[in-house]
Amino acid sequence: MDVSTLAQSVIAGDRRALARAITLVESAREDHRTQARALVAAVAKGGRQALRIGLSGTPGVGKSTFIESFGCFLTAQGLRVAVLAVDPSSARSGGSILGDKTRMERLSRDPLAFIRPSPSQTHLGGVARRTREAVTLCEAAGYDVVLIETVGVGQSETMVAEMCDLFLLLLAPAGGDELQGVKRGIMEMADLILVNKADGDLKPAALRTQADYAGALRLLRHRPQDPEGFPKAMTVSALEEAGLAQVWSEITTLAEWRRAEGHWDSRRAAQARHWFEEEVRQGLLASLARDPLRGLMGQLGEAVGQGRRTPDEAAAELLALLGR
Ligand code: GDP
Repeated sequence: MDVSTLAQSVIAGDRRALARAITLVESAREDHRTQARALVAAVAKGGRQALRIGLSGTPGVGKSTFIESFGCFLTAQGLRVAVLAVDPSSARSGGSILGDKTRMERLSRDPLAFIRPSPSQTHLGGVARRTREAVTLCEAAGYDVVLIETVGVGQSETMVAEMCDLFLLLLAPAGGDELQGVKRGIMEMADLILVNKADGDLKPAALRTQADYAGALRLLRHRPQDPEGFPKAMTVSALEEAGLAQVWSEITTLAEWRRAEGHWDSRRAAQARHWFEEEVRQGLLASLARDPLRGLMGQLGEAVGQGRRTPDEAAAELLALLGR
């Protein structure tokens, strides 16, 4: 199938075409990359926008259970939901935490939902590009909500935050009263902190944890892209499907406010610029890995390691060769 036919089928909402299109953007082959770029550019022309929601949390916190219940909650209202996973562990170990086929069984059978597990990629840059392009494809295919799930490790959270409109952080109830060592940077990225498992014996601990985070969030600087009261901490039970309507209501309140105030468009514009620069950076690094520069890179790297050259001097020599 040629690229323009594939683009038309994606736009027409053909799920198999969408799956094929994502397979194409996942490929690292040079000819596939050329086709993928043309495909993404062709579908992006339509200008359809989904609500892109990032979701992060450590393994076991309940991400797949939450996506299953929340996804079904959304499809029950007639919304079309796409789920993409970003799992850096699949790049490291070849095995995927998020790719488990038994996850989200109910949602995966839902005709209004589309679920795509994490591909195995060798580096985060490749995962980032693939996810970004997959998001664009899902938007073009008419999904109303695109959920981008990531395990809370490494740089994958920052990467996901750079491609979504809204970022949710899922936490488990804490045993003590400490803030679970959640890094400040991650808290600053979150629009909603959801303390999951607020059910049964865990409910009091979940409420305490929620209060702790609500307090911690109040200490953060107010962000100009937020209305009063955001970011927020709330409790949910993915298992008992409790609190989902409130989560959706907060999400739509925030999204509508940002659209009205112009923050939505400016954030997307800033993100597009960020990814443009990132692509250039990756491209330059890749060109350094090719002959004849690769040999020189190795030699200079060694000289720097042995203290014979300073890092800056060696970098300047290499960049001069690139005409910069
Ligand atoms: P993930 O690794 O973050 O995707 O977590 P999972 O969704 O696989 O959930 C990990 C475990 O927590 C499973 O045993 C779930 O049944 C359980 N779990 C998830 N959500 C809830 C919840 O809301 N309440 C309770 N009590 N358990 C939950």
